Amino acid sequence: MKTQVVAALFLASLPLAMAQSAPKPPASVRLYVFDCGSIKGLSPAMFNFKPGEVQGTVMVVPCYLVVHPKGTMIWDTGVIADSAFKADGSPVSQGNGVVMEATKPLKAQLAAVGYKPSDITYLGLSHYHSDHTANANDFAGSTWLVHQEERDFMFNPPPQAPVMSTASFSALKNAKTNIIKADDYDVFGDGTVVIKFAPGHTPGHQVLFVNLAKTGPVLVAGDLYHYPEERTTGNTPTFEYNREQSLASRAKIEAFLKQSKAQLWIEHDQATFVRLKKAPDFYE
Ligand SMILES: [Zn+2]
Repeated sequence: MKTQVVAALFLASLPLAMAQSAPKPPASVRLYVFDCGSIKGLSPAMFNFKPGEVQGTVMVVPCYLVVHPKGTMIWDTGVIADSAFKADGSPVSQGNGVVMEATKPLKAQLAAVGYKPSDITYLGLSHYHSDHTANANDFAGSTWLVHQEERDFMFNPPPQAPVMSTASFSALKNAKTNIIKADDYDVFGDGTVVIKFAPGHTPGHQVLFVNLAKTGPVLVAGDLYHYPEERTTGNTPTFEYNREQSLASRAKIEAFLKQSKAQLWIEHDQATFVRLKKAPDFYE
């Protein structure tokens, strides 16, 4: 009798267990784009532009999921922590003047494509700024891929380090960490997913190259640029860690774009974001 009860419970729990396990790895790399919110009310002057010199007025905040046959990587984790959402799931808005908003929690968007944070092999952050780290602590069980310069700055910041929310990434201090030493870091060893060093905006800023079988190569540019107008004017934000380094990184990445023929996705650019397929759809 007891055995039967246990067996029944076991069988009853099977569909749940199956629903909770990650999807089977795909045959080729996939790239999902999540809507992790937006930032409104930023002055163009912060980016060394005069009013009217940039078209975009809203900065979008995407997060990305790479699914490779050998594992997964989340890239950037949003501007609003999932914990800020109320139970009714209504949109969250923070700040006044500069307003940060999100309409969907990141973990819900991940779950909608079959994953939970514990399924994610690697965490990559383009950089430490708070509009990229809101849910970083959720991925402290993943292996964090970071340059030494960035990690050192995050856990031993100088006074008044700009745009930093220490609490949002504090759990990464004890996360399994791969310190990236090379300019290019081939995440899965087959050249399809490569983190490229592009410092300047922050000490260890990095961008993400994904070579997709059908879509072709894509470069997810972090905050190498915020606005497309930065590409043509050479303007950099007022809060760069090292402007000379930023310009050198931009020159290096522009040369790479030419050579690789990769599409450039400027993360915060609304015009780019609007035309991209969003999860649960994906690029492959
Ligand atoms: Zn940013």
